[in-house]
Parts: sequence; C-alpha cells; structure tokens
Amino acid sequence: MGIKNIFPKDKIKELDRLLQSCDRIAVTCHMRPDGDAIGSSLGWYHLLKSMGKEVTVILPDRAPRSLEFLPGFHDIAIYTQHEDYVRRVLSEIDLLLMCDFNKPSRQGNLEQAVQECPAPKVLIDHHKDPDKMAGLMFSYPAMSSACELSFRLMAALGLYDRMNLDSATALLTGLITDTQNFSVNCDDPETYAVMMRLMEKDVDKTRIIREAIKSTSLNALKLNSFAITNRMEIFPEHRCALITLSADDLRKFSYEKGDTEGLVNEPLRIRGIAYSVFMREDSDCIKVSTRSIMNFPVDKICSDLFNGGGHQMAAGGEFIGSLQNCRQIMLDHMQEYDQFLPKGLAKLEIK
Ligand code: 5GP
Ligand code: MN
Repeated sequence: MGIKNIFPKDKIKELDRLLQSCDRIAVTCHMRPDGDAIGSSLGWYHLLKSMGKEVTVILPDRAPRSLEFLPGFHDIAIYTQHEDYVRRVLSEIDLLLMCDFNKPSRQGNLEQAVQECPAPKVLIDHHKDPDKMAGLMFSYPAMSSACELSFRLMAALGLYDRMNLDSATALLTGLITDTQNFSVNCDDPETYAVMMRLMEKDVDKTRIIREAIKSTSLNALKLNSFAITNRMEIFPEHRCALITLSADDLRKFSYEKGDTEGLVNEPLRIRGIAYSVFMREDSDCIKVSTRSIMNFPVDKICSDLFNGGGHQMAAGGEFIGSLQNCRQIMLDHMQEYDQFLPKGLAKLEIK
C-alpha cells in the first residue's frame, strides 16, 4: 500500500526551498512535551543533521524520563535550564520548525522568545484551529500524530531514502504514544502504511513500547494504584470518573515528572464510563488531563472550563487556583455535558 501525497504542491515546494537554503535550523514543540512532541522534533533533528544542517531541538521544559532512550535526547536544549543559550540560538537560526502545537501559549515561558524569533517559521501540527503562527502552515487535525504528519512531509519531499534509524525511531515513538499503542486515532489504514515504512528502517518497536509506554518506577506504580484506590470518584449519572492528586499525595510517593503518564486512561477501562478527568496539583498550576471514548468531546470541557483544548477524545488544560476549586468547577458544570453522552454506552459496571 502506498502513501498518498496529500499536500499542495506549492507548499511542499516552499518547504523544500526553505530546507535547502537554510543551514541553521531549530525545531521546537509544546511545554510538558510528550512522545509525539519530542518524537517529531527529534525525527526532524536527525534527518536534517544527516543533510549537513546545524540543528538544535529546543524544549520549553524538561521531557519525561520515559523518553530518555531516544537518540539525541541529551542534545536537546531546555529553556528552563539554559535560557540565554536558547535565546541566542533563536536569534541566530535561519529557520524554525514548530511541531505538535496550535497556539503560541502552549509553549509557556518559551512563547515570547519564539514569537520574537526573526527566522521564517513552519508549523507541523495535528490540532484543530491553529493560530496563524507561522508563514508556512501544515495543519492536519485528522492525522494520528505530528510524527505521522512529519513522516508524510519527509516522504513528499523525497527524503525517505535519507531517513536514518534514529529519525525513524523518534517518529515511530510519537506514532505509538499519541495512538496509545495503536488503540485510538488510528482508523486511517494509511497510518499503518506509515508504520510499515518506519519499520523498514529497522526500528526496534518492542523497545519503544517498553520504554515509552510500559516502563515505570516502583514509586510511580504505587502512586497510580493509590490514585485509583483512594482518589478516584465515580459520578454514575454523568458517566464520569474523576481523579485528583494533591501536592501532598505526590510528595508521599516521591513524584517525578511523567510518573502519572497514562493514569487518566485507566478509568476508561470501567465499562460504561464515557470520560475520565485527572487533576494534578503541580507547583505552578492544577494540570487537567482528560480522555474519553465514543467521541465524547472532552476538548470542549477543557476549553470551556480549564483554559485548554486538544483533541475530541484526549485533551488537557490548566487551572490557576486550588485543587478543591478546580474539582468544584468540574462538579458544578458536569451536568451540562450529559447532552454529549454517547448513545449505546454500555451499562455502568461499578458494583
Ligand atoms: P495530556 O492529557 O496528555 O496532557 O494532553 C492530551 C492532549 O491535550 C495533548 O496532546 C494536547 O493536544 C492537549 N493539551 C494538553 N494540555 C493542554 C493545555 O494546557 N492546553 C491546550 N490547549 N491543550 C492541551
Ligand atoms: Mn500530538
């Protein structure tokens, strides 16, 4: 099965011209980066380096430990740790690629420095309704991941033969993490054609799944069990499960970044639950994370209530205030979303 070139010819020509003519390139993504954000950034990094370019990956903040296995992980420049260096890179580059986000504010503290960067910008993203934040925009919300989109762009540019193992490993990681190991957002058969072409580069898929999805620490495993046992509430009439973890809870289990990755998915395993909301008290805000099944629009909840957004069945946001207030806002508004509950949802099994 082939992979269709879905891109307008003139836009591919323009991207090709930019990549050919620019020598110093930076790649950046959203804050609290996940496998797709880092995967797409490192995918471009390794490909462009093999073309002789000087490339820097810039992150707003640290990446989770689960992605440390990715080649190039330790070459990444992190704004919260090396602010001056990142600002200098942004002032000297000829081109900036922006992966996996649709609003400048998704970069947090890095937003201003990126906005001030004088270089031409290219957006490579799969979230709905992007801001006009780059001269050249590749926005494809139907796509599984920014990594799938990046692969398709590379193929359309005729760069598949150049793609090395490191680049393919990074791209397959994002495809696997954003689709939760090919269980959501992957109904397009061509997504599997993309996976096949990546596998042809000898990528170790088993290792990606072990490192990026399965592996955890004992503390994290205990924290997640604690959260489900002691901090999960079920709202049967609204088919909602809500988990809240306070800073105190996190401290007791020596929480580290990434330790609750995947926790929000767990309540969806209960038959009859339509959506899951997870609130975590971070040092700067309450981080809200939501997931759903059968097209229940959690992105609407996140944009209405938590200054966020995302995809219909995987979205997030932030709340400035106490964990109690954040939880109360969800409770006060829960009923408004009953109208979106899917028909044909299974009987709730909570007894
Ligand atoms: P997660 O729950 O894994 O943090 O995020 C799931 C998805 O929700 C992300 O892929 C991203 O699209 C979106 N998302 C997460 N946090 C935010 C946020 O604070 N603001 C917006 N606009 N989207 C978010
Ligand atoms: Mn993504």
